[in-house]
Amino acid sequence: MATPLSAAKTLAALKAEGLTVHEHEGWRTHNRDAATGKKFGPVIGVLIHHTAGHNDRELCFRGRTGLPGPLCHAWLGKTSGLWLLGHGRANHAGAVDLDVLNALRAEKPLPHDDQANADGNDCLYGLEIENLGNGRDPYPDAQYRQAVLWAAALCRAHGWSEKSIAGHKEVQPGKIDPSFDMDDFRAAVRKQLARKPGGAATTPVTTKPGKATKPRVDLSRLVSAAKTDPGARQGHVTYMTGTNLTEAALVKLGYLDKTYAGDGSFGTTTVAAYAKWQRHLGYGGSDADGIPGKISLSRLGERTGLFTVVA
Ligand SMILES: [Zn+2]
Repeated sequence: MATPLSAAKTLAALKAEGLTVHEHEGWRTHNRDAATGKKFGPVIGVLIHHTAGHNDRELCFRGRTGLPGPLCHAWLGKTSGLWLLGHGRANHAGAVDLDVLNALRAEKPLPHDDQANADGNDCLYGLEIENLGNGRDPYPDAQYRQAVLWAAALCRAHGWSEKSIAGHKEVQPGKIDPSFDMDDFRAAVRKQLARKPGGAATTPVTTKPGKATKPRVDLSRLVSAAKTDPGARQGHVTYMTGTNLTEAALVKLGYLDKTYAGDGSFGTTTVAAYAKWQRHLGYGGSDADGIPGKISLSRLGERTGLFTVVA
């Protein structure tokens, strides 16, 4: 719990972290506090989003019908840099899972988000990253790096670790943003926090053996992707990160052609490839139907070293 940074302190923290900061006209007083009668803060963490669009800086500043701006505190362009759009309450998180908020506050591992029973706009800083979020729109290295620096700057200013960071998809059921792995992102922030802001590493960044956390695939969400995506419109995405990890593993073992992997959709080709893997494990009949089970998925994660399974 912490008092939100003042506008001046926010700016100073971001610059000290090594960021070039663009200031949208009016950002210092642009917020939802007066309109909602709810004050922003105390703050407990930072939230990462993708915008699911392009050229949407002004949209994020103004908002849209039914959802007035600002839609984030900072907007990070694909090539146009980091922009401050708001200061105070912003409409970015919406209704989120209270259990996840409590874990963020305590810097504990995040539980699965299965409720929307708390207001995330009260207590979270929000970054919108310009990206289509379809798994095919790359995040340029420079953009990803700036997102890491933004999160690190706020964590450093508040004395938080990377465990105060979450992705929207981790706090609100049904959200898929951002379309990159949040454990990887937190690991990058952890490295940055071990450095002096803006400078090179002052202490060697070491990872304790066995402490590195692998990405996790949630079995129940993956099963619903495998049951939903094939029958839905082409490219339907139910569970992007889990599907992409599973497909990467199937590609690695030669069960799936690379051209069918990475769009986040668990389509018929992926189901067929997964069934091959099940048959390889000795399953037959309806046990080799291409719908992941706990044992086959755990084995796939172990064999490839790409992920662990949460059931
Ligand atoms: Zn979002």
